[in-house]
Amino acid sequence: MTHVPRYRFAPSPTGFFHVGGARTALYNWALALRTGGTFVLRIEDTDESRNSPEWTQGIIDALSWLGIDSSHPQFEGPYFQSQNAELHVAAAHKLFEQGNAYWCDLSAEQIQARAKETGKQGYDGYSRDRGLTGGPGQVLRFRVPTGSTVVHDLVRGEVEFANETIEDFVLLRSNGSPMFLLANVVDDIEMKVSNVVRAEEHLPNTPKQQMLWDALGHTPPQWAHVPVLVNEQRKKLSKRRDKVALEQYREEGILPDAMVNYLMTLGWAPAGDTEIVPWSSMVEEFRLEDVNHSPAFFDIKKLASFNGDYIRALSLQDFVSASLPVLAATDAWPSSRFSAEVYEKIAPLVQTRVVTMSEVPVMVDFLFLEDPAIDQAAWDKTMAAEFAADVLKHCMSEFASCEWNHDALKTILESWTEAKELKLGKTQAPIRVAMTGRTVGPPLFESIEILGRDETIRRLQKSLSRLG
Ligand code: GLU
Repeated sequence: MTHVPRYRFAPSPTGFFHVGGARTALYNWALALRTGGTFVLRIEDTDESRNSPEWTQGIIDALSWLGIDSSHPQFEGPYFQSQNAELHVAAAHKLFEQGNAYWCDLSAEQIQARAKETGKQGYDGYSRDRGLTGGPGQVLRFRVPTGSTVVHDLVRGEVEFANETIEDFVLLRSNGSPMFLLANVVDDIEMKVSNVVRAEEHLPNTPKQQMLWDALGHTPPQWAHVPVLVNEQRKKLSKRRDKVALEQYREEGILPDAMVNYLMTLGWAPAGDTEIVPWSSMVEEFRLEDVNHSPAFFDIKKLASFNGDYIRALSLQDFVSASLPVLAATDAWPSSRFSAEVYEKIAPLVQTRVVTMSEVPVMVDFLFLEDPAIDQAAWDKTMAAEFAADVLKHCMSEFASCEWNHDALKTILESWTEAKELKLGKTQAPIRVAMTGRTVGPPLFESIEILGRDETIRRLQKSLSRLG
Protein backbone atom coordinates (compact mmCIF):
# COMPACT_ATOMS: atom_id res chain seq x y z
CA MET A 1 0.00 0.00 0.00
CA THR A 2 1.38 3.38 -0.88
CA HIS A 3 1.62 5.84 1.92
CA VAL A 4 -0.79 8.76 1.60
CA PRO A 5 0.49 11.65 3.69
CA ARG A 6 -1.80 13.24 6.22
CA TYR A 7 -1.07 16.88 7.02
CA ARG A 8 -2.94 18.88 9.59
CA PHE A 9 -3.54 22.39 10.72
CA ALA A 10 -4.35 22.71 14.39
CA PRO A 11 -5.23 26.28 15.37
CA SER A 12 -6.50 27.37 18.77
CA PRO A 13 -9.65 29.49 18.47
CA THR A 14 -8.51 32.21 20.83
CA GLY A 15 -8.62 35.32 18.67
CA PHE A 16 -8.44 36.74 15.20
CA PHE A 17 -6.82 34.55 12.61
CA HIS A 18 -3.10 35.33 12.67
CA VAL A 19 -1.21 35.77 9.40
CA GLY A 20 1.38 33.30 10.72
CA GLY A 21 -1.35 30.69 11.12
CA ALA A 22 -2.50 31.47 7.60
CA ARG A 23 0.99 30.79 6.26
CA THR A 24 1.20 27.49 8.17
CA ALA A 25 -2.21 26.47 6.84
CA LEU A 26 -1.18 27.27 3.27
CA TYR A 27 2.05 25.29 3.51
CA ASN A 28 0.09 22.28 4.75
CA TRP A 29 -2.58 22.74 2.11
CA ALA A 30 -0.07 23.05 -0.75
CA LEU A 31 1.71 19.90 0.41
CA ALA A 32 -1.48 17.92 0.81
CA LEU A 33 -2.59 18.94 -2.67
CA ARG A 34 0.71 18.11 -4.34
CA THR A 35 1.18 14.76 -2.66
CA GLY A 36 -2.41 13.63 -3.08
CA GLY A 37 -2.61 13.65 0.69
CA THR A 38 -5.13 14.93 3.19
CA PHE A 39 -5.37 18.23 5.05
CA VAL A 40 -6.95 17.73 8.45
CA LEU A 41 -8.35 20.74 10.27
CA ARG A 42 -8.37 20.29 14.01
CA ILE A 43 -9.62 23.06 16.23
CA GLU A 44 -7.65 22.94 19.48
CA ASP A 45 -10.37 24.24 21.71
CA THR A 46 -9.36 22.86 25.08
CA ASP A 47 -8.45 26.15 26.72
CA GLU A 48 -11.98 26.98 27.81
CA SER A 49 -11.12 30.33 29.28
CA ARG A 50 -9.84 31.67 25.95
CA ASN A 51 -11.98 29.89 23.36
CA SER A 52 -15.03 31.15 21.68
CA PRO A 53 -17.17 29.66 18.90
CA GLU A 54 -16.97 32.87 16.90
CA TRP A 55 -13.21 32.43 16.57
CA THR A 56 -13.76 28.91 15.26
CA GLN A 57 -16.08 30.25 12.59
CA GLY A 58 -13.49 32.96 11.89
CA ILE A 59 -10.88 30.26 11.22
CA ILE A 60 -13.14 28.39 8.83
CA ASP A 61 -14.09 31.59 6.98
CA ALA A 62 -10.49 32.76 6.78
CA LEU A 63 -9.35 29.41 5.40
CA SER A 64 -12.07 29.49 2.81
CA TRP A 65 -11.08 33.05 1.84
CA LEU A 66 -7.54 31.71 1.28
CA GLY A 67 -8.94 29.00 -0.97
CA ILE A 68 -8.70 26.20 1.60
CA ASP A 69 -12.14 24.98 0.99
CA SER A 70 -13.75 22.65 3.49
CA SER A 71 -15.75 20.93 0.74
CA HIS A 72 -12.61 19.94 -1.19
CA PRO A 73 -12.14 16.13 -1.23
CA GLN A 74 -8.65 16.46 0.29
CA PHE A 75 -9.96 18.49 3.23
CA GLU A 76 -10.97 16.59 6.36
CA GLY A 77 -12.62 18.02 9.44
CA PRO A 78 -13.02 20.19 11.31
CA TYR A 79 -12.41 18.01 14.33
CA PHE A 80 -12.57 19.48 17.79
CA GLN A 81 -9.94 18.63 20.37
CA SER A 82 -12.43 19.05 23.20
CA GLN A 83 -14.39 16.08 21.86
CA ASN A 84 -11.42 13.78 22.36
CA ALA A 85 -10.92 14.43 26.07
CA GLU A 86 -11.59 10.80 26.98
CA LEU A 87 -8.92 9.59 24.59
CA HIS A 88 -6.41 12.02 26.05
CA VAL A 89 -7.09 10.78 29.57
CA ALA A 90 -7.01 7.15 28.47
CA ALA A 91 -3.60 7.69 26.85
CA ALA A 92 -2.31 9.25 30.07
CA HIS A 93 -3.46 6.24 32.08
CA LYS A 94 -1.86 3.92 29.58
CA LEU A 95 1.43 5.77 30.06
CA PHE A 96 1.06 5.38 33.83
CA GLU A 97 0.36 1.66 33.54
CA GLN A 98 3.36 1.18 31.29
CA GLY A 99 5.56 2.97 33.78
CA ASN A 100 6.15 5.96 31.52
CA ALA A 101 4.33 8.30 33.87
CA TYR A 102 3.91 8.74 37.61
CA TRP A 103 1.78 10.72 40.03
CA CYS A 104 3.12 13.65 41.98
CA ASP A 105 1.57 15.71 44.77
CA LEU A 106 4.10 18.50 45.12
CA SER A 107 2.71 22.00 45.01
CA ALA A 108 4.34 24.71 42.91
CA GLU A 109 5.82 26.19 46.13
CA GLN A 110 7.29 22.87 47.20
CA ILE A 111 8.84 22.41 43.76
CA GLN A 112 10.36 25.84 43.98
CA ALA A 113 11.69 25.23 47.45
CA ARG A 114 13.35 21.98 46.31
CA ALA A 115 14.84 23.72 43.28
CA LYS A 116 16.38 26.27 45.60
CA GLU A 117 17.78 23.52 47.81
CA THR A 118 19.29 21.49 44.98
CA GLY A 119 20.35 24.51 42.94
CA LYS A 120 18.67 23.00 39.89
CA GLN A 121 15.96 24.57 37.83
CA GLY A 122 12.44 23.23 37.59
CA TYR A 123 11.03 19.97 38.81
CA ASP A 124 13.64 17.42 39.93
CA GLY A 125 11.70 14.16 39.59
CA TYR A 126 11.05 13.93 43.33
CA SER A 127 8.00 11.66 43.03
CA ARG A 128 9.42 9.29 40.41
CA ASP A 129 9.70 6.37 42.81
CA ARG A 130 7.25 7.30 45.53
CA GLY A 131 4.61 4.96 44.14
CA LEU A 132 1.69 7.40 44.38
CA THR A 133 -1.45 6.03 42.79
CA GLY A 134 -3.31 9.22 41.91
CA GLY A 135 -5.91 11.15 43.81
CA PRO A 136 -6.88 14.67 44.73
CA GLY A 137 -4.12 17.21 44.28
CA GLN A 138 -1.92 14.90 42.22
CA VAL A 139 -0.69 15.56 38.72
CA LEU A 140 0.52 12.90 36.31
CA ARG A 141 4.04 13.48 35.05
CA PHE A 142 5.89 11.92 32.16
CA ARG A 143 9.02 10.01 33.11
CA VAL A 144 11.57 11.52 30.73
CA PRO A 145 14.09 8.82 29.83
CA THR A 146 17.84 9.35 29.97
CA GLY A 147 19.87 9.97 26.85
CA SER A 148 18.94 12.35 24.10
CA THR A 149 16.15 12.95 21.63
CA VAL A 150 16.89 13.67 18.02
CA VAL A 151 14.21 15.45 16.08
CA HIS A 152 14.46 15.05 12.31
CA ASP A 153 13.04 18.26 10.98
CA LEU A 154 12.61 18.89 7.26
CA VAL A 155 13.33 22.58 7.68
CA ARG A 156 15.84 22.61 10.51
CA GLY A 157 17.68 19.36 9.89
CA GLU A 158 18.59 17.16 12.86
CA VAL A 159 18.03 18.87 16.16
CA GLU A 160 19.35 17.04 19.21
CA PHE A 161 18.01 17.67 22.70
CA ALA A 162 19.74 16.34 25.82
CA ASN A 163 16.96 14.72 27.86
CA GLU A 164 18.46 15.94 31.11
CA THR A 165 17.42 19.45 30.08
CA ILE A 166 13.79 18.36 29.88
CA GLU A 167 11.94 18.06 33.18
CA ASP A 168 9.31 15.40 33.83
CA PHE A 169 6.47 17.37 32.30
CA VAL A 170 2.84 17.23 33.35
CA LEU A 171 0.35 15.16 31.33
CA LEU A 172 -2.74 15.49 33.53
CA ARG A 173 -3.45 18.43 35.79
CA SER A 174 -4.55 17.83 39.35
CA ASN A 175 -8.17 18.29 38.24
CA GLY A 176 -7.64 15.43 35.79
CA SER A 177 -7.70 17.54 32.65
CA PRO A 178 -5.09 16.77 29.97
CA MET A 179 -2.30 19.18 29.14
CA PHE A 180 -1.96 20.59 25.64
CA LEU A 181 1.19 18.62 24.77
CA LEU A 182 -0.52 15.32 25.42
CA ALA A 183 -3.83 16.23 23.77
CA ASN A 184 -2.01 17.43 20.69
CA VAL A 185 -0.05 14.16 20.33
CA VAL A 186 -2.99 11.89 21.08
CA ASP A 187 -5.07 13.71 18.47
CA ASP A 188 -2.31 13.48 15.90
CA ILE A 189 -2.04 9.75 16.55
CA GLU A 190 -5.79 9.30 16.46
CA MET A 191 -6.05 11.27 13.21
CA LYS A 192 -3.16 9.29 11.71
CA VAL A 193 -1.21 12.44 11.04
CA SER A 194 2.03 11.65 9.22
CA ASN A 195 3.40 15.18 8.76
CA VAL A 196 3.44 17.97 11.30
CA VAL A 197 4.22 21.33 9.70
CA ARG A 198 3.90 24.16 12.19
CA ALA A 199 5.47 27.31 13.53
CA GLU A 200 8.95 27.25 14.97
CA GLU A 201 7.73 28.31 18.39
CA HIS A 202 6.61 24.70 18.86
CA LEU A 203 10.09 23.29 18.29
CA PRO A 204 10.91 23.18 22.04
CA ASN A 205 7.79 21.05 22.53
CA THR A 206 8.84 18.60 19.89
CA PRO A 207 11.26 16.39 21.83
CA LYS A 208 8.62 15.95 24.54
CA GLN A 209 6.00 15.14 21.97
CA GLN A 210 8.29 12.74 20.18
CA MET A 211 8.84 10.91 23.49
CA LEU A 212 5.09 10.64 23.85
CA TRP A 213 4.70 9.22 20.34
CA ASP A 214 7.37 6.63 21.13
CA ALA A 215 5.94 5.76 24.53
CA LEU A 216 2.47 5.37 23.06
CA GLY A 217 3.90 2.92 20.54
CA HIS A 218 3.69 4.99 17.38
CA THR A 219 6.25 6.22 14.90
CA PRO A 220 6.56 10.00 15.25
CA PRO A 221 5.48 12.10 12.30
CA GLN A 222 7.76 13.85 9.89
CA TRP A 223 8.35 17.18 11.62
CA ALA A 224 8.85 20.56 9.98
CA HIS A 225 9.06 23.84 11.86
CA VAL A 226 8.71 26.93 9.72
CA PRO A 227 10.36 30.23 10.65
CA VAL A 228 8.72 32.83 12.84
CA LEU A 229 7.36 36.00 11.32
CA VAL A 230 8.96 39.23 12.47
CA ASN A 231 8.19 42.92 12.04
CA GLU A 232 10.38 45.70 10.71
CA GLN A 233 12.34 45.82 13.98
CA ARG A 234 12.96 42.09 13.63
CA LYS A 235 10.71 41.43 16.61
CA LYS A 236 8.33 38.52 16.57
CA LEU A 237 4.94 39.63 15.25
CA SER A 238 2.66 40.25 18.17
CA LYS A 239 -1.04 40.92 18.48
CA ARG A 240 -0.37 43.96 20.58
CA ARG A 241 2.29 45.60 18.43
CA ASP A 242 1.52 44.58 14.89
CA LYS A 243 -1.30 44.17 12.47
CA VAL A 244 -1.56 40.39 12.47
CA ALA A 245 -5.22 39.62 11.83
CA LEU A 246 -5.89 38.18 8.41
CA GLU A 247 -9.41 39.56 8.68
CA GLN A 248 -8.05 43.08 8.79
CA TYR A 249 -6.14 42.68 5.55
CA ARG A 250 -9.20 41.19 3.97
CA GLU A 251 -11.27 44.20 5.06
CA GLU A 252 -8.67 46.61 3.77
CA GLY A 253 -9.01 45.18 0.32
CA ILE A 254 -6.07 42.84 -0.01
CA LEU A 255 -7.08 40.27 -2.63
CA PRO A 256 -7.01 36.67 -1.47
CA ASP A 257 -4.73 35.56 -4.31
CA ALA A 258 -2.22 38.28 -3.46
CA MET A 259 -2.35 37.34 0.22
CA VAL A 260 -1.84 33.67 -0.55
CA ASN A 261 1.07 34.37 -2.86
CA TYR A 262 2.69 36.74 -0.36
CA LEU A 263 2.26 34.39 2.61
CA MET A 264 3.81 31.52 0.65
CA THR A 265 6.96 33.60 0.12
CA LEU A 266 7.53 34.16 3.86
CA GLY A 267 10.43 31.77 4.20
CA TRP A 268 10.30 30.32 0.71
CA ALA A 269 10.73 31.55 -2.84
CA PRO A 270 9.45 30.09 -6.05
CA ALA A 271 12.05 29.34 -8.74
CA GLY A 272 12.60 31.98 -11.42
CA ASP A 273 13.00 35.69 -11.20
CA THR A 274 9.60 36.67 -9.94
CA GLU A 275 7.91 35.83 -6.68
CA ILE A 276 4.51 36.52 -8.19
CA VAL A 277 3.36 33.15 -9.41
CA PRO A 278 0.04 31.38 -9.65
CA TRP A 279 -1.13 29.09 -6.88
CA SER A 280 -0.89 26.04 -9.14
CA SER A 281 2.83 26.51 -9.65
CA MET A 282 3.42 27.11 -5.95
CA VAL A 283 1.66 23.82 -5.25
CA GLU A 284 3.87 22.18 -7.83
CA GLU A 285 7.13 23.66 -6.55
CA PHE A 286 6.78 24.10 -2.81
CA ARG A 287 9.17 21.92 -0.79
CA LEU A 288 9.78 22.12 2.94
CA GLU A 289 13.43 21.34 2.30
CA ASP A 290 13.67 24.72 0.57
CA VAL A 291 12.19 26.69 3.45
CA ASN A 292 14.57 29.09 5.10
CA HIS A 293 15.57 28.87 8.79
CA SER A 294 15.84 32.56 9.44
CA PRO A 295 12.93 34.64 10.67
CA ALA A 296 10.74 35.95 7.85
CA PHE A 297 9.98 39.66 7.70
CA PHE A 298 6.26 40.26 7.31
CA ASP A 299 6.56 43.33 5.12
CA ILE A 300 3.27 45.16 4.75
CA LYS A 301 4.68 47.32 1.97
CA LYS A 302 5.68 44.29 -0.01
CA LEU A 303 2.27 42.77 0.53
CA ALA A 304 0.71 45.97 -0.83
CA SER A 305 2.94 45.84 -3.84
CA PHE A 306 1.98 42.21 -4.50
CA ASN A 307 -1.61 43.30 -4.19
CA GLY A 308 -1.13 46.13 -6.69
CA ASP A 309 0.28 43.63 -9.18
CA TYR A 310 -2.64 41.29 -8.60
CA ILE A 311 -5.14 44.12 -9.02
CA ARG A 312 -3.59 45.15 -12.32
CA ALA A 313 -3.63 41.58 -13.56
CA LEU A 314 -7.40 41.26 -13.07
CA SER A 315 -9.72 41.54 -16.04
CA LEU A 316 -11.71 44.75 -15.90
CA GLN A 317 -14.81 42.78 -15.11
CA ASP A 318 -13.12 40.98 -12.21
CA PHE A 319 -11.77 44.25 -10.93
CA VAL A 320 -15.24 45.76 -10.98
CA SER A 321 -16.69 42.72 -9.21
CA ALA A 322 -13.93 42.79 -6.60
CA SER A 323 -14.51 46.48 -5.92
CA LEU A 324 -18.29 46.42 -5.70
CA PRO A 325 -18.43 45.04 -2.13
CA VAL A 326 -15.96 47.71 -0.98
CA LEU A 327 -18.05 50.39 -2.67
CA ALA A 328 -21.21 49.01 -1.14
CA ALA A 329 -19.67 49.02 2.33
CA THR A 330 -18.21 52.51 2.24
CA ASP A 331 -19.77 55.43 4.04
CA ALA A 332 -17.89 57.87 1.82
CA TRP A 333 -21.18 58.89 0.13
CA PRO A 334 -24.90 58.29 0.68
CA SER A 335 -25.50 54.89 -0.89
CA SER A 336 -28.46 56.17 -2.92
CA ARG A 337 -26.07 58.32 -4.95
CA PHE A 338 -23.91 55.42 -6.09
CA SER A 339 -24.22 54.28 -9.69
CA ALA A 340 -22.55 51.07 -10.85
CA GLU A 341 -22.82 52.31 -14.41
CA VAL A 342 -20.82 55.45 -13.65
CA TYR A 343 -18.33 53.43 -11.63
CA GLU A 344 -17.74 51.07 -14.54
CA LYS A 345 -16.71 54.03 -16.68
CA ILE A 346 -13.99 55.14 -14.28
CA ALA A 347 -12.95 51.66 -13.14
CA PRO A 348 -10.20 51.15 -15.78
CA LEU A 349 -8.51 54.34 -14.60
CA VAL A 350 -8.76 53.29 -10.97
CA GLN A 351 -7.49 49.77 -11.55
CA THR A 352 -4.05 50.97 -12.59
CA ARG A 353 -3.72 53.32 -9.64
CA VAL A 354 -4.62 51.48 -6.43
CA VAL A 355 -2.66 48.98 -4.39
CA THR A 356 -5.53 47.91 -2.17
CA MET A 357 -9.24 47.83 -2.87
CA SER A 358 -9.84 50.07 0.13
CA GLU A 359 -8.31 52.97 -1.82
CA VAL A 360 -11.02 52.76 -4.45
CA PRO A 361 -13.73 54.83 -2.70
CA VAL A 362 -11.41 57.80 -2.17
CA MET A 363 -10.53 57.79 -5.86
CA VAL A 364 -14.09 57.92 -7.06
CA ASP A 365 -16.02 59.67 -4.32
CA PHE A 366 -16.18 62.93 -6.31
CA LEU A 367 -18.55 61.15 -8.71
CA PHE A 368 -21.00 60.16 -6.00
CA LEU A 369 -20.94 63.12 -3.66
CA GLU A 370 -23.14 66.08 -4.27
CA ASP A 371 -20.43 68.43 -3.09
CA PRO A 372 -17.09 66.77 -2.40
CA ALA A 373 -15.38 68.31 0.60
CA ILE A 374 -12.54 70.55 -0.46
CA ASP A 375 -9.27 69.80 1.20
CA GLN A 376 -8.09 73.10 2.62
CA ALA A 377 -4.40 72.50 1.98
CA ALA A 378 -5.15 71.50 -1.61
CA TRP A 379 -7.25 74.61 -2.04
CA ASP A 380 -4.64 76.93 -0.55
CA LYS A 381 -1.87 75.43 -2.64
CA THR A 382 -3.63 75.54 -5.98
CA MET A 383 -5.95 78.53 -5.79
CA ALA A 384 -3.13 80.84 -4.73
CA ALA A 385 -1.85 80.77 -8.33
CA GLU A 386 -2.54 84.12 -9.97
CA PHE A 387 -4.09 82.40 -12.98
CA ALA A 388 -6.49 80.33 -10.87
CA ALA A 389 -9.60 82.43 -11.40
CA ASP A 390 -8.82 82.90 -15.10
CA VAL A 391 -8.38 79.23 -15.79
CA LEU A 392 -11.61 78.36 -13.98
CA LYS A 393 -13.48 81.03 -15.95
CA HIS A 394 -12.00 80.01 -19.25
CA CYS A 395 -12.85 76.35 -18.79
CA MET A 396 -16.31 77.22 -17.58
CA SER A 397 -17.14 79.13 -20.70
CA GLU A 398 -15.46 76.73 -23.16
CA PHE A 399 -16.77 73.56 -21.56
CA ALA A 400 -20.30 74.90 -21.91
CA SER A 401 -20.42 74.24 -25.63
CA CYS A 402 -17.45 72.05 -26.62
CA GLU A 403 -17.62 68.47 -27.75
CA TRP A 404 -17.91 66.34 -24.61
CA ASN A 405 -14.95 64.00 -24.56
CA HIS A 406 -11.64 64.03 -22.72
CA ASP A 407 -9.58 64.92 -25.80
CA ALA A 408 -11.65 67.99 -26.55
CA LEU A 409 -11.56 69.02 -22.89
CA LYS A 410 -7.84 68.61 -22.75
CA THR A 411 -7.29 70.58 -25.97
CA ILE A 412 -9.16 73.51 -24.48
CA LEU A 413 -6.98 73.66 -21.43
CA GLU A 414 -3.82 72.96 -23.40
CA SER A 415 -4.36 75.82 -25.84
CA TRP A 416 -5.08 78.26 -23.05
CA THR A 417 -2.02 77.06 -21.13
CA GLU A 418 0.25 77.48 -24.15
CA ALA A 419 -1.06 80.92 -24.92
CA LYS A 420 -0.29 81.97 -21.36
CA GLU A 421 3.12 80.27 -21.50
CA LEU A 422 2.29 78.16 -18.50
CA LYS A 423 2.60 74.44 -17.80
CA LEU A 424 -0.34 72.05 -18.02
CA GLY A 425 0.73 70.41 -14.78
CA LYS A 426 0.12 73.74 -13.05
CA THR A 427 -3.03 74.88 -14.80
CA GLN A 428 -4.76 71.52 -14.30
CA ALA A 429 -4.41 71.76 -10.55
CA PRO A 430 -7.15 74.34 -9.75
CA ILE A 431 -9.52 72.50 -12.10
CA ARG A 432 -8.89 69.24 -10.34
CA VAL A 433 -9.46 70.76 -6.92
CA ALA A 434 -12.70 72.32 -8.18
CA MET A 435 -13.86 68.92 -9.45
CA THR A 436 -12.67 66.58 -6.74
CA GLY A 437 -11.57 68.66 -3.76
CA ARG A 438 -8.11 67.11 -3.94
CA THR A 439 -4.83 67.48 -5.81
CA VAL A 440 -4.54 63.79 -6.71
CA GLY A 441 -6.90 61.38 -8.34
CA PRO A 442 -7.59 59.59 -11.58
CA PRO A 443 -6.68 61.33 -14.86
CA LEU A 444 -8.41 64.69 -14.94
CA PHE A 445 -10.01 64.96 -18.36
CA GLU A 446 -11.43 61.45 -18.29
CA SER A 447 -12.82 62.22 -14.84
CA ILE A 448 -14.46 65.40 -16.10
CA GLU A 449 -15.93 63.56 -19.06
CA ILE A 450 -17.52 61.03 -16.73
CA LEU A 451 -18.74 63.68 -14.31
CA GLY A 452 -20.67 65.31 -17.15
CA ARG A 453 -21.05 68.83 -18.50
CA ASP A 454 -23.65 70.30 -16.14
CA GLU A 455 -22.03 69.07 -12.98
CA THR A 456 -18.59 70.17 -14.17
CA ILE A 457 -19.79 73.66 -14.86
CA ARG A 458 -21.61 73.83 -11.54
CA ARG A 459 -18.44 72.87 -9.66
CA LEU A 460 -16.28 75.34 -11.60
CA GLN A 461 -18.80 78.06 -10.77
CA LYS A 462 -18.82 77.10 -7.15
CA SER A 463 -15.07 77.33 -6.85
CA LEU A 464 -15.07 80.65 -8.62
CA SER A 465 -17.55 82.05 -6.12
CA ARG A 466 -15.51 80.67 -3.28
CA LEU A 467 -12.41 82.35 -4.70
CA GLY A 468 -14.38 85.59 -4.44
N1 GLU B 1 -2.83 24.76 18.68
C1 GLU B 1 -1.48 25.12 18.47
C2 GLU B 1 -1.38 26.59 18.10
O1 GLU B 1 -2.36 27.16 17.68
C3 GLU B 1 -0.85 24.36 17.33
C4 GLU B 1 -0.04 23.24 17.76
C5 GLU B 1 0.51 22.41 16.64
O2 GLU B 1 0.43 22.83 15.46
O3 GLU B 1 0.98 21.35 16.93
O4 GLU B 1 -0.34 27.17 18.23
